[in-house]
Amino acid sequence: MASGPTVLMRLVASAYSIAQKAGMIVRRVISEGDLGIVEKTCATDLQTKADRLVQMSICSSLVRKFPKLTIIGEEDLPPEDVDQELIEDGQWEEILKKPCPAQYRAIKEEDLVVWVDPLDGTKEYTEGLLDNVTVLIGIAYEGKAIAGIINQPYYNYQLSSPQAGPEAVLGRTIWAVLGLGAFGFQLKEAPAGKHIITTTRSHGSQLVTDCVQAMEPDAVLRVGGAGNKIIQLIEGKASAYVFASPGCKKWDTCAPEVILHAVGGKLTDIHGNALQYNKDVKHMNSAGVLAVLRNYDYYASRVPESVKKALVP
Ligand code: AMP
Ligand code: MG
Ligand code: MG
Repeated sequence: MASGPTVLMRLVASAYSIAQKAGMIVRRVISEGDLGIVEKTCATDLQTKADRLVQMSICSSLVRKFPKLTIIGEEDLPPEDVDQELIEDGQWEEILKKPCPAQYRAIKEEDLVVWVDPLDGTKEYTEGLLDNVTVLIGIAYEGKAIAGIINQPYYNYQLSSPQAGPEAVLGRTIWAVLGLGAFGFQLKEAPAGKHIITTTRSHGSQLVTDCVQAMEPDAVLRVGGAGNKIIQLIEGKASAYVFASPGCKKWDTCAPEVILHAVGGKLTDIHGNALQYNKDVKHMNSAGVLAVLRNYDYYASRVPESVKKALVP
């Protein structure tokens, strides 16, 4: 008997449409001019109106269709009625046409945990570094990140001026399911033999610097956002993402990790341990992040012992 798309593929197809709507909200808040910035724990840990609206949009849209999911979003928001205008009901048809990997066909809604970063790179968003910003929806099963959706609202923003022509569409959505593949971008590797490290620009520390220097980098890129840095890896702009510090959370890494793993890369903590995404796990990636598309072992072998000692998982 023919059966329709599985829960996982329906969820990914919905999350794709929801992430696109999120990207529109991120752009709308900028165009309206009032970012509504709030400091969370400190001056480099910010929340804007876009973080709040997008989280409401994503979480409410998901829960309407998939009421048994566990959804964990970054922002701590008071419960309130969500404006109908924020709800996205669509599902991306191209995704529904693809086969669900066999190992995920029996997954039930209640087995899945969704990690939501409504706006990754908020600090950079407030400073006008718009292409650093992404919206991240990661899906985990049995503690493992298995599907991810990244919307980059300002992809092409320097090209999409009236002069640039119709082909320069503003924004894009990248997605992946382990065992199926990664879509929405052109995979490119960084130049072979060069060690181009991408790391934080807003949350640096001595440990981060020590670890980056130990990699003997040919170049160091300092950009905002975990999503943005993984995009740099899969598009050949950087060879490794090194963040030897706590601060990055599970919603920062879940979706990006899947995209990287789906193209043969590896994301771990700084000790080489896989990250866990069960619903009860602590949110902080206390032992940092090391993500590499090719030649992971080179970078892992150069993490200094002093850095490892300082970062307890
Ligand atoms: P970054 O590379 O600095 O953009 O950090 C990647 C992600 O981790 C972003 O979502 C940051 O907000 C978050 N993050 C990293 N370090 C910290 C920190 N010290 N405090 C708050 N958030 C952090
Ligand atoms: Mg983030
Ligand atoms: Mg965020």
